[in-house]
Amino acid sequence: MITNYIKIGDYMIIVIGTGAGGGLLARELAIKGLPVTILEKGPYVESKDAFNYYDNYSEDVDLLTITCVGGATIVSMANMVRALDKELLDYDVDLSEAYPYVEKLVGVHQLDDSHIGKGTKAFLDAASELGLETLKMPKAIRENECVQCGKCAFGCPVDAKFTGKDMVDEAIRAGAKLITHAEVTEVISENKKVSAVKYVKNGIEEIMAADKVILAAGAIGSTLILRKSGIEDAGEEIFFDPFVSVGGYLKDIQFNTEVQMAGLVIGKNFVLSPHFSSFIRANIPNDNVTDGDILSIMVKTPDDCKGRVDENGDVVKINTIHDIRYLAEGVATAGFILEKAGVDSTTIGSTVYRGAHPGGTAPIGKIVDSNLETEISNLYVCDASVLPLSPGKPPILTILALSKRLADYLEN
Ligand SMILES: Cc1cc2nc3c(=O)[nH]c(=O)nc-3n(C[C@H](O)[C@H](O)[C@H](O)COP(=O)(O)OP(=O)(O)OC[C@H]3O[C@@H](n4cnc5c(N)ncnc54)[C@H](O)[C@@H]3O)c2cc1C
Repeated sequence: MITNYIKIGDYMIIVIGTGAGGGLLARELAIKGLPVTILEKGPYVESKDAFNYYDNYSEDVDLLTITCVGGATIVSMANMVRALDKELLDYDVDLSEAYPYVEKLVGVHQLDDSHIGKGTKAFLDAASELGLETLKMPKAIRENECVQCGKCAFGCPVDAKFTGKDMVDEAIRAGAKLITHAEVTEVISENKKVSAVKYVKNGIEEIMAADKVILAAGAIGSTLILRKSGIEDAGEEIFFDPFVSVGGYLKDIQFNTEVQMAGLVIGKNFVLSPHFSSFIRANIPNDNVTDGDILSIMVKTPDDCKGRVDENGDVVKINTIHDIRYLAEGVATAGFILEKAGVDSTTIGSTVYRGAHPGGTAPIGKIVDSNLETEISNLYVCDASVLPLSPGKPPILTILALSKRLADYLEN
């Protein structure tokens, strides 16, 4: 393979990946006037086309990723909750200043009632009647643009929610350079100090000189790059916030076209949120049932960091007794809520078990220090990999806050 050597300017920070971690970090560094080049494996696409770039991380577990500018944020539900803020203090990571900054930047708020549909309301009312703690999910969605189509997970057709792509656009406006279709394979170091990044673009290997590198290629992508760069212990642990969707028949609820996951129940060991799954209909032996007749709830739990990323990048996950118990508690509670909401209890069923948010592969305290720096000087990791525990909740806001904190640190 031909190798090109590239050096841009006297000083260069390279950000790898453009999802929750990389997008915000590139923006923050660029608006501070620092020289930033962003390397992204996927293409730059319109949000509405993002669903074409889904990929499965692994053959063994049902765990999705997406490879394009914006990473998994582009298909997210824009759910934004603080997670692990207290636990991270034990690792010397204080996000108390970063959270309000990122919440304001991406516009986190509970949706206006005009965007709370009939199914979500049925979920919230039933859960409150059962004495559960309920709230409208904090989101980063602009109601004046949102057309309430229920298609967040495909990529928003009208660009009405926060994505990492917005952050990349702002970074570019502030002077950052974006290189797409650039698959990073390795960070090169000399005497344990970063010197360059190796990537492949259009079949040609490029080596770009770098003074600082921030790896934000997601829990699996960052693991593979770290290992190739000499940090072999990466990916020896992993969590993925397991989830199932539980649902059944409720005639003409039309929940499938509502804003999804707009309500939330926080249990001790699980969170529940109304979420349409077309797989539920297959459980109901009645040909007349349509997607508009299904009410379903996502049950999501924290899991133990048991499992690993294998040599091929496949995820091997071990379910502990806690993982299974938490999921069972959540599923039973979801069943009670569905019944209370009027769902025909003889039709209630579940989807298969899936992973929602992989992370914990380069945890703070083991692979990175509290400033997110690795044992290789000037090589940082800032994405879901660094979370030392499973949040069991949507992690984007926490990753954004970590990025803001790191950007402030790197400025000084
Ligand atoms: C359908 C769906 C809905 C979700 N909804 C929510 C939600 O509402 N709220 C929430 O908090 N979380 C949600 N999540 C989870 C959340 O999106 C992820 O946890 C989060 O985006 C992880 O951030 P990250 O920076 O670690 O990785 P990502 O956002 O996945 O970004 C990684 C980036 O690195 C790039 N990359 C990978 N390998 C390389 C390489 N070798 N070279 C260069 N670039 C590379 C990828 O293309 C991508 O752009 C959802 C996830 C999915 C799949």
